[in-house]
Amino acid sequence: MSNDCLFCKIINREIPTEFLYEDENYVVFKDINPAAPVHLLLIPKKHIRSINDITWDDEKLISGLFLIAKDMAKSQGVNESGYKLLFNVEKGGGQEIFHVHLHLIGGWKR
Ligand code: AMP
Repeated sequence: MSNDCLFCKIINREIPTEFLYEDENYVVFKDINPAAPVHLLLIPKKHIRSINDITWDDEKLISGLFLIAKDMAKSQGVNESGYKLLFNVEKGGGQEIFHVHLHLIGGWKR
């Protein structure tokens, strides 16, 4: 938990946000400024600043994001049409919130 982290505040329910999925290690919610019809943020509850800061101790936590992504893609109906999974890493990589999160983006009509 980092006191000035927006995603930690959401995880701790200090900022009300509807979770599409939650378990002891993760939350998933809709991006407030969606880049596509489906745009979810998949977030480990553990505060890790960016992908630069993960260690082998986080191996299961980070790989678990992909298994949740697969399930969320199915529940959002984009598993067959396809989707993108994206980590923005640090400012130059477009990261704005410095708490690791995986974007799941899809649902385009093509
Ligand atoms: P990034 O640029 O990879 O750090 O992504 C941060 C994402 O968080 C952006 O796509 C924002 O639109 C999204 N975001 C910021 N504040 C909120 C919020 N309160 N609820 C949901 N998504 C948010």
